[in-house]
Amino acid sequence: MTNTHICTCGREWLITKHHSPMRDKDSESCLCGEELVSWNGGVTYSVRLVKDIKKDDKNRIFI
Ligand SMILES: [Zn+2]
Repeated sequence: MTNTHICTCGREWLITKHHSPMRDKDSESCLCGEELVSWNGGVTYSVRLVKDIKKDDKNRIFI
């Protein structure tokens, strides 16, 4: 199962769900620090950056 997730910073991530035999608790975060996904047992997720924010990001909000 794969989902596309667009972070509030504008980066686009591909999040893939994997079944895991081990109970694992972890999370993945965006480069901006925002949590993309977290899990607790049975599944793990892998994330892949598909679209970064760059110079063409004219609407970037500076915090
Ligand atoms: Zn982000």
